[in-house]
Amino acid sequence: MFILSSPSGAGKTTIARRLLAEDGAIAMSVSVTTRPPRPGEVDGKDYHFVSEAAFHQMVGDGELLEWAEVFGNHYGTPKSHIKAGLKDGRDFLFDIDWQGTQQLYQRMEVDVVRVFLLPPSIAALEQRLRCRGTDSDAVIEGRMARARSEISHWDGYDFVVVNDDIDDCFEKVRTILNAERMRRARQTGLVDFTRDLMRP
Ligand code: 5GP
Repeated sequence: MFILSSPSGAGKTTIARRLLAEDGAIAMSVSVTTRPPRPGEVDGKDYHFVSEAAFHQMVGDGELLEWAEVFGNHYGTPKSHIKAGLKDGRDFLFDIDWQGTQQLYQRMEVDVVRVFLLPPSIAALEQRLRCRGTDSDAVIEGRMARARSEISHWDGYDFVVVNDDIDDCFEKVRTILNAERMRRARQTGLVDFTRDLMRP
């Protein structure tokens, strides 16, 4: 489980999209949310958009691996798809906040790598949020306040990457993913593979 968190506007969505496009071995974990879709967002691809009632039903039925309230909306990771994929040895990319990251990390049975992206400065972050043009001033102010609080959780991650250049940042994130895949403990076929290599 490869977790990418950042304050909104730090480039996480761009990095996530590139990783999915260039690395065939990782799939996106599509969250459920009670937030209404933004223009261009597709149900089932960006999120599964659900009502508050449906969300709370999923929580009650134990269908979410983790969930949190972010900006007054609820977000959560559905269990079924992820569990089946992980069993088959697939990697998943999670775009979730620090609360969800903590919940996943605390589950003993799961294997997580936590990456946090930071903007080069708070001014750059605000600029990026304004460039998006999708949110009102009040929403942006709220997001900046939220960004500051999100940034305060940087020390709950294994890796921290400052995104001052998107290409550079992408390469760093990809390097982390590849290096983590090569950890001996994650390479389940090594016993047989090395036995074959050592056979006289
Ligand atoms: P947005 O509404 O901008 O898509 O996302 C707002 C925040 O919610 C982002 O920080 C995003 O990482 C986080 N988020 C999205 N899906 C989930 C989820 O399933 N669980 C948790 N804990 N956070 C999520």
